[in-house]
Amino acid sequence: MSELIKDGLRIDGRKPDELRPIKIEAGVLYRADGSCYLEWGGNKVLAAVYGPREAIPRHIQDPTKALVNARYNMASFSVKERKRPGPDRRSTEISKVTSEALENVIFTELFPRTTIDVNIEVLDAEAGTRCAGITAAAVALADAGIPMRDIPVACAAGKVDGVVVLDLSAEEDQQGDADLPIAISPRSEEILLLQMDGHLTYKEFEEALELALKGAKYVSKLQKEALMKKYKG
Ligand code: UDP
Repeated sequence: MSELIKDGLRIDGRKPDELRPIKIEAGVLYRADGSCYLEWGGNKVLAAVYGPREAIPRHIQDPTKALVNARYNMASFSVKERKRPGPDRRSTEISKVTSEALENVIFTELFPRTTIDVNIEVLDAEAGTRCAGITAAAVALADAGIPMRDIPVACAAGKVDGVVVLDLSAEEDQQGDADLPIAISPRSEEILLLQMDGHLTYKEFEEALELALKGAKYVSKLQKEALMKKYKG
C-alpha cells in the first residue's frame, strides 16, 4: 500500500490543509487583450483573452449575449509521457466546464453578437491544471477589462490515505482516493464548477468542499494582488 501521509504530513511536507506555492502575474502578453501567467506547485499555465469581438461565422452569433469560448490545451511537453498534440476528450471536457464557469460571472448581455475567447495553455502539468487554468483565465479576463460580477477562482480538495486534504499533488491525484475540484465566485460563494473523481462519504464531501472553499478564497486574494500590482505599480 502506498503511504501518502506520514506523521500527519504529506509526501511533499505539506499539512493536510496547505496549498502548494502559487505565483500569479497579470498582463504578460503584448497582443492579447488580457493575459495571465500562473504557477501553482509544478503547474505552469498561460491564459490569453481576446474580445469581446464579432463572432464569426455570423450564424454562431447570439443577438442577446456574448459567447464565452474557453479552449484548454495541454502542451505535448507538459507531461511525463508526451501528450499527442491537439484536442482530445479530456481537453474538450475541461474547455466546456471552464467556458460554463466563466460565462456565469461575465456580463455577457452587454456584448451581443460577440465572442470572448479564452485560451488556456498548460506548459507544465502536475495535477490541478483545470483549477490553475480557470484561476489564470479569471485574471486574464479582469486584465482585459471584461465586466464581471466577481473574479472567479478555483481550487481542489480531495482524500488521500483516508484523510481529507487540500490541493492534491500529482502523486496524490494518481494514488489518492478522491479529487474534488471546484470553481467559485468568491464573494457570493456561488459554485461555478464542481467535479468529483473517486469516492467520498457525505461527511468527507462536506469537509472537502469546506476546505476547497477556504483554499479558493486564499487564492482569490493572490489574484487581486496580481491585478493590483499591474495597475497600481
Ligand atoms: N496528466 C498526464 N497526461 C495527460 C493528462 C493528464 O500526465 O494526458 C496528468 C497531469 O499532471 C494532470 C494530472 O494528470 O495535471 C491530473 O489530470 P486530471 O485529468 O485529473 O486534471 P487536472 O487535475 O489537471 O485538472
